[in-house]
Amino acid sequence: MPQKSPQRDPFAIAKEALRLVGEFSTPPTPEIYEVWYRYIEGADDAMLEHLDHAVNDAKSVSVDLLASLHQQFCVEGQETGASIGDALAAELSKLQTIVLKQKDAGSEFGDSIQQASDILKTEDQNRDRLIACVANLADGTVKMQRQLDDMAGKLDEAQRQVCHLQTDLEASQRGMMTDHLTGVGNRRFFDSLIKKTVQTFDPDAGEIYLVLLDMDRFKQINDTHGHEGGDQVIRFVASELVSCRSDSSVARLGGDEFAVFVRTSNRDEILRYTEQIREHLGSQQLQLRNSGQVISGIRFSLGVSRLRSSDDEVTWYTRADKLLYQAKDLGRNRAVVEKIAAAV
Ligand code: GH3
Ligand code: MG
Repeated sequence: MPQKSPQRDPFAIAKEALRLVGEFSTPPTPEIYEVWYRYIEGADDAMLEHLDHAVNDAKSVSVDLLASLHQQFCVEGQETGASIGDALAAELSKLQTIVLKQKDAGSEFGDSIQQASDILKTEDQNRDRLIACVANLADGTVKMQRQLDDMAGKLDEAQRQVCHLQTDLEASQRGMMTDHLTGVGNRRFFDSLIKKTVQTFDPDAGEIYLVLLDMDRFKQINDTHGHEGGDQVIRFVASELVSCRSDSSVARLGGDEFAVFVRTSNRDEILRYTEQIREHLGSQQLQLRNSGQVISGIRFSLGVSRLRSSDDEVTWYTRADKLLYQAKDLGRNRAVVEKIAAAV
């Protein structure tokens, strides 16, 4: 059993991490070892929650899960993009060299035109000198044309490479921001979006609500239908949240907890939204793939806070989180939406 309180002794952490590598038969690659090490170290609550469930409840830890946790919790954003960024920089420097060569070729051609013009301006022109001068210009033109063709080819190739690298970079960033189980945004996505939303908030452009949802008594679903059944419910909820309101952004914060960012013009709309979600999910029947059993009445508690001009990401999130706890304390299966004066 991993220790939940932060471990300080690096030798003890390393020993326990290696033990878990063996216990769950996960390959001892640096990435996977790092996830186990961080888990035992206990420095990150969100990571603890993800792995605790797999280690203690499901008793199965997949390499996919560890890889996704590595992306989410161990890799700095800049680090992942660094190698692609280096390759992009190399391609861009190639482009720069091509442009400089083109400039040199242009000025060389300019010199030979200048030479020809000087010759043509002199008084003693004879037929041979004129022929030599024209031949010289023709040579220069052919050479210039060849160089241009060559550079155009190189430019095309470099541009193709840059496009590929940009696609790779976008895919890698998407992967880092995606929850491996549901395909919606993960905690990293949430952290980045809440920050961006607060920074770019314009109170005159409408209201923005943070909706935190946590399933009620989800552990019972896991206990009754197994980890696979629980996973299927989590996936189902994520896809329903996405399709309920296409203009919202959905993230899974861990376990059975989700966050949705909703933009509206007034509070009534958010009240309707939270009720619609509760009613919709509560009335769904989900047939489990493995057992064929049907799960119905998926219930939720919700805490909702409205972004204020004075907020930072922590204050905004903390209010929603407290309201979510309030909803649980009040008996679950309800939404608590904060009431604030319009001017705040
Ligand atoms: P409450 O109404 O107080 O929220 O009760 P709850 O049973 O839903 O309790 P809580 O939200 O604290 O528990 C979430 C559980 O989700 C804990 C953990 O066992 C389980 N869990 C965490 N991650 C996963 C996962 O990836 N898959 C599955 N199937 N279960 C998970
Ligand atoms: Mg719950």
